[in-house]
Amino acid sequence: MEIQFRNIGKVWPDGTTALREVDLTVPAGQFCVLLGHSGAGKSTLLRCVNGLEVPTSGQVRIDGQPVGKTSLPALRRRIAMVHQHFGLVPRASGAANVMAGAVSVLPLWRVLTGVYPAATKRKVCDLLKAVGLDEAHLRRRAEQLSGGQQQRLGLARAFMLDPVVILADEPVASLDPALGREVLELLKAQARERGATVLCSLHQLDLARAFADRIVALHRGRVIFDGPPEALNARD
Ligand code: ADP
Ligand code: ADP
Repeated sequence: MEIQFRNIGKVWPDGTTALREVDLTVPAGQFCVLLGHSGAGKSTLLRCVNGLEVPTSGQVRIDGQPVGKTSLPALRRRIAMVHQHFGLVPRASGAANVMAGAVSVLPLWRVLTGVYPAATKRKVCDLLKAVGLDEAHLRRRAEQLSGGQQQRLGLARAFMLDPVVILADEPVASLDPALGREVLELLKAQARERGATVLCSLHQLDLARAFADRIVALHRGRVIFDGPPEALNARD
């Protein structure tokens, strides 16, 4: 799905401006990196897509539909988020954490009783293989896994929804560079192989250059560069 940011502004109640006049259209299937230092506004912009934040001005549209109270419940079933600190339930098993990714599309009674359909369980196993984990990882508690394994679980949970939009907020900031690259590779595959629109914030220029289809650099809430990685090289 196409994500359109139309003249987005965000001012916090304390007067801090997080975003200024952000105008962007991110087409379906693009791996778009939001690049910027801490505080640049990356996280706020990502969170405006799934309604975790509401812009002070402007509008976000997904496939032309304005993000708002009416559209959000349906959109949230197709939009997944990946977090810097993985966002797992530490004491729950890997399996329970991945299964939680399907919660918004399963009936409440299944979630409450933990009785999941066989197809859902199969999907968990398939996704686990896809991200390089196995069933032993599923049985262990999330907190017993390494950082890299936890972020793989985070990805598997996000992919449970068959997301058409993936919002990845500094997904590799807590990982060493080699693991970070593997995680970015998995995210990029979602764009390339499934046509998901992936918006991924990063603060490392080298990683952005290596993986992005497009780099949008933010500085103090403003877009200061928007183009392919090669164009960013040429300017330095
Ligand atoms: P990034 O993700 O690039 O680090 P953020 O979007 O988190 O940037 O933050 C953008 C700006 O908004 C920063 O100045 C930050 O301090 C401020 N900010 C973020 N969240 C809040 C909040 N809930 N209340 C007030 N200011 C905030
Ligand atoms: P509707 O979809 O009901 O017609 P609007 O787009 O007019 O809604 O916005 C209604 C409310 O939805 C606004 O008051 C605002 O609180 C909320 N809203 C608008 N944009 C967003 C957004 N990007 N994220 C979360 N909530 C939003």
